Amino acid sequence: MHFRPTRAEISRQALENNARVARQLAAGARLIGVVKADGYGHGMLTVANAIARYVDAFAVAFVDEAVQLRNAGFQQPVILLEGCFSEAELPICAHYNFQPVVHQQEQLNAITTARLVRPLAVWLKVDTGMHRLGWAPEQVAEAYQQLKRCPQVASVTMMSHFAAADSHNHKLNQQQLELFEDACAVTEANLDLSVANSAALVSTAIDLAHPSQQWVRSGILIYGDNPSSSQLPAPLQSVMRLVAAVIAIRDIKAGDTVSYGGTWEAKRDSTIATVSIGYADGYPRHAKNGTPVFINGHKAHLAGTVTMDMIMVDITDVPEVNIGDEVELWGANVSVAEIAQCADTISYDLLTGVSARVPRVPVS
Ligand SMILES: *Cc1c(COP(=O)(O)O)cnc(C)c1O
Repeated sequence: MHFRPTRAEISRQALENNARVARQLAAGARLIGVVKADGYGHGMLTVANAIARYVDAFAVAFVDEAVQLRNAGFQQPVILLEGCFSEAELPICAHYNFQPVVHQQEQLNAITTARLVRPLAVWLKVDTGMHRLGWAPEQVAEAYQQLKRCPQVASVTMMSHFAAADSHNHKLNQQQLELFEDACAVTEANLDLSVANSAALVSTAIDLAHPSQQWVRSGILIYGDNPSSSQLPAPLQSVMRLVAAVIAIRDIKAGDTVSYGGTWEAKRDSTIATVSIGYADGYPRHAKNGTPVFINGHKAHLAGTVTMDMIMVDITDVPEVNIGDEVELWGANVSVAEIAQCADTISYDLLTGVSARVPRVPVS
């Protein structure tokens, strides 16, 4: 039961549209739908259902997330992007047919000594410059040989991750690609490869060599944000529409201030609407004065600091606002990327930060 008029509508049709765009960009490569972190905050199963027929596999961060997908009946390959944290997960991987990333020796040792009902398809991760997870390029030959000798391993896919794929001309992109190619050269030539995230998929500056061997890992694109400055073959659609309602309206005098700390001061006599969403819902506390919201067909602007459960909006120039009117915090009319910019963050952070008390409402 939800009486509070605050919710995140999740458009299935937008998910499908964006998955089709990703599919089109991936061309001859295979497409992995990245649904970690509860489908970037959209609801993992809603997302997986909408995009299942456009993707060849799903990826999640860790095994608990993958089990949710299997329990919901999804049969596709599921890649664990961080691999296993402990050897206890390996039998679960074998049982459910999950594909763990192997990024360090501890994980490899655990596989070597595990007793499994079937061998695992694993992803060997190379650290080409992100310096988060993965084998140094010079360790790859040895790690690959160990995996190849291991009866618990059915196949190896080579992968790496870009640190700056969203910056078209960043020198890391080319450097990382070259290091990856060199590292892969010590393995068998016909192995599958995976380097591209959404930004690399879109970027015309990053050349996906050997497309037929590539697995593209796409997350944010499917959720409707283009992380790069490159043009897309078709427009993306916003998937999440975060909405709340006007719950109070008041008139204030020029010189009055609004909200904690009095950081917003009325330059003229003003009308202020109080809206039913705050930082406890995942609306960013650092959103600046002037951050846009969409109300009754008009843009209005944040007035004063974001509070835990409510925000205030200057509606002086918006005609006919009434208590109960819907307010879009982000969606098709104000993009989540635009709000992220106003809060000095990125769309990923806002989408995954929508809190559990906001009901996700799938819509067609
Ligand atoms: C999350 C993640 C992705 C997806 O990134 P997007 O920018 O959302 O496309 C791809 N690869 C790895 C290793 C990730 O952790």
